[in-house]
Amino acid sequence: MTGIDPRTVLLLTGALGGFMAVVLYLLRLNYPPAIKGLGEWALSMALGLVAGLLFTAVGKIPVLLSVTLPTITYMAAAYISYMGTQRFFGVAPRPLPWVIWICLAVLGSTWFLFVDPSYSSRLRLNLVVMLSLFVAQGSLIYQKSRHSYAGRTTLVILTIATAIHLMRLVSTFFYPVGSSVMDPSLPSVVYITVYSFLVPIGAISQVIMATERLRAELEHVATHDSLTDAYTRRYMNEAIQRELERCTRHGRSMSLMLLDIDHFKSVNDVLGHQAGDQVLVQLVARTNQHLRNADLLGRFGGEEFVVLLPETSLDVARVVAERIRMSLAETTGPTVSIGITTNRAEGDTVDSLLARADAAMYRAKNNGRNRVEVT
Ligand code: GH3
Ligand code: MG
Ligand code: MG
Repeated sequence: MTGIDPRTVLLLTGALGGFMAVVLYLLRLNYPPAIKGLGEWALSMALGLVAGLLFTAVGKIPVLLSVTLPTITYMAAAYISYMGTQRFFGVAPRPLPWVIWICLAVLGSTWFLFVDPSYSSRLRLNLVVMLSLFVAQGSLIYQKSRHSYAGRTTLVILTIATAIHLMRLVSTFFYPVGSSVMDPSLPSVVYITVYSFLVPIGAISQVIMATERLRAELEHVATHDSLTDAYTRRYMNEAIQRELERCTRHGRSMSLMLLDIDHFKSVNDVLGHQAGDQVLVQLVARTNQHLRNADLLGRFGGEEFVVLLPETSLDVARVVAERIRMSLAETTGPTVSIGITTNRAEGDTVDSLLARADAAMYRAKNNGRNRVEVT
């Protein structure tokens, strides 16, 4: 006896779970559809509320409604939550093995309710199903998101949930388990109370995961060109500014490349605008293959790109530019003219660097295109 009534705890958790279901559903309505899984998470919370309410009615309504139905609802809720996590991480759910596994557990549970009544066996079955779902969910989050704050928070919650379920499972072999979920013994109440706290906290961690994803998506949209996925002009300006300041402080060199497609207008005229778009996409993909991780490629205008090469001398930049130019010339698409410059003069600014690279690029155009000019 603990003085804590399992029924009250279940009702409180149900209320909090219902509230979190509404929160998650509102996020699903308001967040971009690209953020998946929120609907499943909301549904899982709502089903959890239904299961909790039915469980508390044990002894007052038929067992089919107060035991079998909430057991099915509860397991379905746990699986749907896992499915939401899979969809959140872009993994296609494969429900069949889980549906079979849960059906077998429900059949077993029904057997131990009507044929060979044993609450301890039913409880163990429930706990094992929940443990299997926690492990599956935990390993997915570990693979996909262990480096993010939200991912780590969720992993901690899942670990505690796993531990408390294991504790409860072990306790069924050493303590009498009572006859229903309303068992007021210490292991039962500790299990129900701790798990009841974890349910709304778990939902909050889902909200944090979705919000973290939203922030990342917005950041990506704000800093990347929608057609080619190269950086935007504004992002490049800021990056060049930062790099220039760093180089000026430490006396290092950086190089800047301006790259313009030759006779691109005729590509559009001959092949059509959409084919022109594809040329831009392929050019970015191909150019990126020749760049290091620290180098940044941005789209500066229609068919004009800029490459920032940190810690790179003019000579090295010229080699990289030649490699890019040749690689693009080898493909059937149009060629490019490239102008390169480096930070040189005291008081160089982003504008002065860009102006020099632009002048070099125009010299490449005037000297016959498909070439690299340095200034
Ligand atoms: P040059 O060798 O002198 O650079 O000739 P050019 O034809 O490449 O230069 P110009 O500036 O005359 O034309 C650039 C063309 O790029 C015109 C425009 O229709 C096309 N363009 C700009 N942005 C896009 C885009 O997003 N998609 C497509 N398909 N074409 C674009
Ligand atoms: Mg051009
Ligand atoms: Mg141009």
